[in-house]
Amino acid sequence: MPHRTETDSRRMLRELRDEMASAQPGQERLDRITTIIARSMGTDVCSIYLFRNPDTLELCATEGLRPTAVHETRLRFGEGLVGKVARLARPLKSANAPSESGFRYMPETGEEVFTSFLGVPVQRLGERLGVLVVQSKEARDYSEDEIYGLEVVAMVIAEMTELGAFVGEGTSFASPHKNAVTLPGVAAQEGEAEGHVWLHQPRVVVTNLVNDDSKAEIARLHDAIDRLRGSVDDMLNIARAGDKEHQEVLQTYRMFANSRGWIKRMEEDIRLGLSAEAAVEKEQSAARARLETVPDQYLRDRLHDLDDLSNRLLRILTGQGVETGAEMPERAILVARNIGPGDLLEYGRKLRGVVLEEGAVGSHATIVARALAIPLVINVPRITTDALSGDHILVDGTEGVVHLRPDDSITSAFRDKMAMQAKAQERYASLRDKPAVGRCGTQVILKMNAGLMADLPSLPTSGAEAVGLFRTELQFLIRERMPRRSELVATYARVLDAAAGKSVHFRTLDIGSDKVAPYMKRPDEPNPAMGWRALRVGLDKPGVLRMQLQALIRAAAGRPLSVMFPLVATGEEFTRARDTLMREIERERRLGHSLPSKLKVGAMMETPSLAYAPESFFREVDFISIGGNDLKQFFFAADRENELVRRRYDTLNVSFLTFLQKIVDRCHETETVLSFCGEDAGRPVDALAMAGIGISALSMRPASIGPVKSLIRRSNLNEVSELIARVQVRGLESARPALLDYVASLVE
Ligand code: PEP
Ligand code: MG
Repeated sequence: MPHRTETDSRRMLRELRDEMASAQPGQERLDRITTIIARSMGTDVCSIYLFRNPDTLELCATEGLRPTAVHETRLRFGEGLVGKVARLARPLKSANAPSESGFRYMPETGEEVFTSFLGVPVQRLGERLGVLVVQSKEARDYSEDEIYGLEVVAMVIAEMTELGAFVGEGTSFASPHKNAVTLPGVAAQEGEAEGHVWLHQPRVVVTNLVNDDSKAEIARLHDAIDRLRGSVDDMLNIARAGDKEHQEVLQTYRMFANSRGWIKRMEEDIRLGLSAEAAVEKEQSAARARLETVPDQYLRDRLHDLDDLSNRLLRILTGQGVETGAEMPERAILVARNIGPGDLLEYGRKLRGVVLEEGAVGSHATIVARALAIPLVINVPRITTDALSGDHILVDGTEGVVHLRPDDSITSAFRDKMAMQAKAQERYASLRDKPAVGRCGTQVILKMNAGLMADLPSLPTSGAEAVGLFRTELQFLIRERMPRRSELVATYARVLDAAAGKSVHFRTLDIGSDKVAPYMKRPDEPNPAMGWRALRVGLDKPGVLRMQLQALIRAAAGRPLSVMFPLVATGEEFTRARDTLMREIERERRLGHSLPSKLKVGAMMETPSLAYAPESFFREVDFISIGGNDLKQFFFAADRENELVRRRYDTLNVSFLTFLQKIVDRCHETETVLSFCGEDAGRPVDALAMAGIGISALSMRPASIGPVKSLIRRSNLNEVSELIARVQVRGLESARPALLDYVASLVE
């Protein structure tokens, strides 16, 4: 049995490199490669299968099988031993292949005479590109060294594929980053955008695959690892003062950076002929392939850490920084695995859209994207692998779909959709200065939600009458450290300046649950949404709440101030919160600061319990704002962050509408001002139902004000109210079908 040596392997890689440098068509190049590998490994057959489409592998070149089978033989993903290698993303060998389960005999290839089989995946950073196979007549048991050597070759073939070395006729020869792909994800911020990909962390391009001097190359690897360790230690020193989770990630980085196993594997790759960067990428690809099969989230996170570390090492080795000097394209669509709120804010309105491989509907990045009204699709698998900077991309933030390098028919349909929406926007703009009055003559007050200074310009342009909800926690979440009181005073004063006399309901800090500031210590909680969050923290540990209230009072300085407390669950909690505010007013007075000219103190109704609070609460509170996002999650016991259940229950479910009506009635009896500020207020049909049951003020994202106003102006709220009453009497589950019929009957 021939034994492969380091020298064999190095010679083979050099020959492959020369092939790469030669100016030949893709097919001839592939043919030559199979010949080189078969000769070098002393096998009767070497074949390369490439993916024709994500489900089909095609025999693209062979030495030893019948040439007529090339481009004729196809296997489904997972079919036969070749398909199995692709599916498992790891090598498979057999000294007696026909006896293996899953073996599929392909008569057109003439392979019946070949007994032994060794297949390795051709993959690049988790992207499956094909399978490389060697076969022999003799019942040969391929050694670990041979498997390893073939994997190294497969790595070079993967890189060559990526660099377009085999581009030619036929789909399987298309460079992997040229195909049109439609990728499904989760809609996190509505809206459509067309533009060009801007990778937050551009992919490192490895062009130097083979080394000439493995000793020198190993030294280069060690040098780069030393620099990597140094930078991780620096980061750790900086992070020591910060939060624990960040430190833990860096500790893991350090552990990997010192991992003998990882470094040894890369040294071995280099000894077999790969360049240092190709060795890093080979191990990174193997880790990514493992990532796809690991169900345990903790382990997946650790593999992600290793992936990040490999990227850092690649950047050191290739000198390619995140700052590649490339110009951000016009109409940039940001593509990233994930992104922090600070980074996203820095890009700000330069972006047309954002697509994330990970992310969560309630993450800080999502909150910022919403505030900036940038269409956002999250949980898009493989987007950072599939997309290249500059690629044409369409982001459908309403449907939660991304079209990468779309063909003309998809682009033109998408543009039609965008044009229709632009037309509708023009129509809405013409309504800007008109009130939201129904045909019945009833007026609904439409306000906007905000959380960043960047939101405020929308106040005049959207036609909002006020800011019905200012989420103050965003100022805390986007920082690395707790903001100082003076900074908060300045921010709140600027918000009031920008509001130019229109009222702003400042909601005090709603931290906890999904909104966690990195520098604030928090206990681990089994169910954070129902845990120690929002006002509960403010009442138990009032330091931050008091600082925030002082800042609000100082920012108002002689102007009216409106404060509301989040997640008030009982009347007593509201009284305590109000008392805290009053004590701060008194303190500010004593300190000689000018006080607000008028003070309104409200509560967010976000737990069903508050709807049944004693009448004294309704008499005490100046206004109530229904936080429908939380109220609905607690009413239906369906976590608003959990994709499995978050859309399960409809806002127009009759039981929820009846419950909302109960709140309206109690406010009516006690003459309490009521509004609604959850996301549903921005959905026209839902908003119409709320107006129909008597909620006379709705606060929503600025972009929703036009569509909601337009529908209200075309509707008769008395008819809506009667329609809902009829649905209730008939004992139906939901008012939505009847309301949709009603809306369809209205004249445009
Ligand atoms: C709500 O719960 O409806 C709300 C407006 O607050 P948030 O979405 O910030 O929890
Ligand atoms: Mg809430």
